[in-house]
Amino acid sequence: MFHCRLVNPVHHDPALLLSLPQLAQRWLLDCGDLHALSLHELLQIDTVFVSHAHIDHWIGLDALMRAQLFGDRPLRVLGPKGILDMLAGRLAGYAWNLVSRSQFVVEGYEWTGTVWKSRHFPCSHRFVGREAASGLPALENWSLRWVELEHGVPCLGYRLESPISFRFREECPYPPGPWIATLKARMVAGTLEGTLLVAGEERPLSELRQWVRALPPEQLAYVTDTRLDPGTRARIVEAFGPTRVLWCEAAFLESQRALAESKLHSTATEAALLACELECERLQLFHLSRRTQGQADQHLREARQIFQETYIDQHLSEKR
Ligand SMILES: [Zn+2]
Repeated sequence: MFHCRLVNPVHHDPALLLSLPQLAQRWLLDCGDLHALSLHELLQIDTVFVSHAHIDHWIGLDALMRAQLFGDRPLRVLGPKGILDMLAGRLAGYAWNLVSRSQFVVEGYEWTGTVWKSRHFPCSHRFVGREAASGLPALENWSLRWVELEHGVPCLGYRLESPISFRFREECPYPPGPWIATLKARMVAGTLEGTLLVAGEERPLSELRQWVRALPPEQLAYVTDTRLDPGTRARIVEAFGPTRVLWCEAAFLESQRALAESKLHSTATEAALLACELECERLQLFHLSRRTQGQADQHLREARQIFQETYIDQHLSEKR
């Protein structure tokens, strides 16, 4: 199970912090104001999925870089068409003459519409970008899907799926050892012929597999700043397929549909329809318009008329 939480209240800048299980590592979906994060949390973030470059989704990058400037782990930034030049422009906006010994590198990845183009920006070279091989970075065996959204600027929605995880059964009569890791790898590969050495004896994989239970992967979709008309929803469903948890913007209420259309945002009703179409188990609404500040319950009620398992993370103070 992974854990995720909004960094800010639902009417403020989007930034969804995803903690990876068993790893001292966190990912961010969007990078709005990050002042609510501790230095420790900022240091653990190594990947940022940016939906688009509007300032409320992107302004936190400076705080992140400030925290990580002398780290030795790259910061990976994925985003839509144009993100590499915006990253270059952002990095060119500071003087870097006294930090040339830092090993820190920002790795940018841009979806051009056909390929993930990459450029690396090493601190030791004053963050001047160098083209890198195309393709996505390895994402700790998570799989990534993405879709282009309708927001008047290049904008991506993301879907992350965790790798299969395993639980070792405590009632197993054999002592733990390297055989467990080998068995898990063989289960992932689907090759269960042969034997493994367990406590000095060769035992068939087909017997050993009963002591390790495979847990189903988790899926998380993140969709924000888009119209969610039927055509756009159909494209998202085609790109993502069934997904357990959907984090979706619901900037407006259905009574404000005209406003949603003019601002290229969505309504709570549209978010709920998307959750139904993605066969979700849970819908988390966020990025509500400041025009509806204090009315989060209305968004919730509206969405629940269509999709009962809808929630809004309201534990954060609305006063900020
Ligand atoms: Zn936007």
